[in-house]
Amino acid sequence: SSAVAGTPLSVPITLPNGTTYTQPTGLFIDGDFVPSADNRTTEVADPSTELPIARVFKAGAADVERAVAAAKRAFESSWATADPEVRAKCLFRLADLVEQHADTLAAIESMDNGKSLECSRGDVALVSKYLRSCGGWADKLYGNVIDTGKEHFAYSVREPLGVCGQIIPWNFPLLMWSWKIGPALVTGNTVVLKPAETTPLSALYAAQLCKEAGVPAGVVNIVPGSGRVIGEALCKHPDVKKIAFTGSTATGRTIMKNAADTVKKVTLELGGKSPNIVFADADLDKAVRSIAHGIFYNSGEVCCAGSRVYIQDSVYDEVLEKFRQYTAGIKVGNPFDPDTFQGAQTSQKQLDKILDYVKRGEEEGARVVIGGKRRGAKGYFVEPTIFADVREDMQIVKDEIFGPIVTVSKFSTVDDVVHKANDSQYGLAAGIHTKDVNKAVAVSRRLKAGTIWINTYNAFHQSVPFGGFGQSGIGREMGAAALENYTQVKSVRMAIDAPEF
Ligand code: NAD
Repeated sequence: SSAVAGTPLSVPITLPNGTTYTQPTGLFIDGDFVPSADNRTTEVADPSTELPIARVFKAGAADVERAVAAAKRAFESSWATADPEVRAKCLFRLADLVEQHADTLAAIESMDNGKSLECSRGDVALVSKYLRSCGGWADKLYGNVIDTGKEHFAYSVREPLGVCGQIIPWNFPLLMWSWKIGPALVTGNTVVLKPAETTPLSALYAAQLCKEAGVPAGVVNIVPGSGRVIGEALCKHPDVKKIAFTGSTATGRTIMKNAADTVKKVTLELGGKSPNIVFADADLDKAVRSIAHGIFYNSGEVCCAGSRVYIQDSVYDEVLEKFRQYTAGIKVGNPFDPDTFQGAQTSQKQLDKILDYVKRGEEEGARVVIGGKRRGAKGYFVEPTIFADVREDMQIVKDEIFGPIVTVSKFSTVDDVVHKANDSQYGLAAGIHTKDVNKAVAVSRRLKAGTIWINTYNAFHQSVPFGGFGQSGIGREMGAAALENYTQVKSVRMAIDAPEF
């Protein structure tokens, strides 16, 4: 990063389809785009071309102070006590605006993250659905009436927490923005959100939409910057009441430690190494499409990716061959080509990490069935890669790789596969493929994961809670469960001077 005086607060950007849009490049604080206090900026690049896209301002600790102060003012002055209809309208309008700007938002996302336009379009569709769903909760946040005997009247209400610090990753920049701001706003909180260093563009563009939707100044603040600096400032700030984070388990641990001194509420959505199980009685062609989608979707940069595939021994060779053939047909390349399924990995750092794991897998003695190499010399493209005949103690079976790399091994019985599937520090998701509904339900009960997909994978819905068992996280996002992360229960018990009637 560097301090460059006179950096503009927005720049025109021409997208690969030839249209030009205006990209905000300032921090979004108190309803306006502003330079960082020290004028520092950072360059954002396109992972599929490695060419620069734009310079954006980079927040520092002083900017966090300004943003938290604005969020606190907005919380106290109006937002926390606003009529629920006001909050609902803002979120409904925001959902509509996301739909109206869907093409631009999807293109920004593909340019910034490297993912295929097909993936980005899917993300944006989920974003508007989720924001609208959040808006619908505004006047349905009920407490309880509690029977404590006739001499008292007791009830509970749900109240917002205050300023929420939200830290999001680069794999689903806009979708994570919506999973964070949606439930926070509808419950009456205000936010200071930090996008990932490499992918700040869609959150800044969407900040403009928040303004257009009538979200009052200070309710949403966006501070792109370094994870360590901004993350630490948010985690330690006494006026920040909650931290919501999505990212690596290692950073999640740091966040919990930093948030401990001020005893913040912390929710974490962390890594995974999710098992995807194919039983011999499954519809094998459908199962193959599902396991391929489970790992290669979004270039494998998915926290719940089905990165450990287990195939029952009697169909192992057949399914592995079908999986190889399906994988050979996956189009990797320019995210903007309509038939591209897998775009670029998001950064040089991720590319290096992935290729390093491929090397390690080979050294550990796993067999490369297909892929295993970088594709091309420009852009961070990796071939979809299948490792077969892996042992459970191999590093490539234990660690989250976060790329298009899958390990495949065989199992014989339900007990065998349940044991292997659960032998992980993580517990984000799991897949089961079988036509036997009894087996599906029985196995789903025994798997230690926050989401179980049966005969499908990576299937998200705004009403279905998502989050992790074990070291995959704390708390749930989406659905009614997400609102609990953003409210606290106040109990009221009143003595009744009850005359005898
Ligand atoms: P990361 O967890 O470090 O980054 C995620 C976010 O946390 C970013 O916004 C980053 O700036 C911020 N951050 C970094 N250090 C922080 C700190 N000390 N305090 C507060 N915030 C901080 O992940 P990464 O380094 O970009 O990627 C490394 C690996 O993490 C990936 O290879 C992948 O395995 C995993 N990952 C998981 C997810 C997920 O959705 N679960 C997302 C991104 C990365």
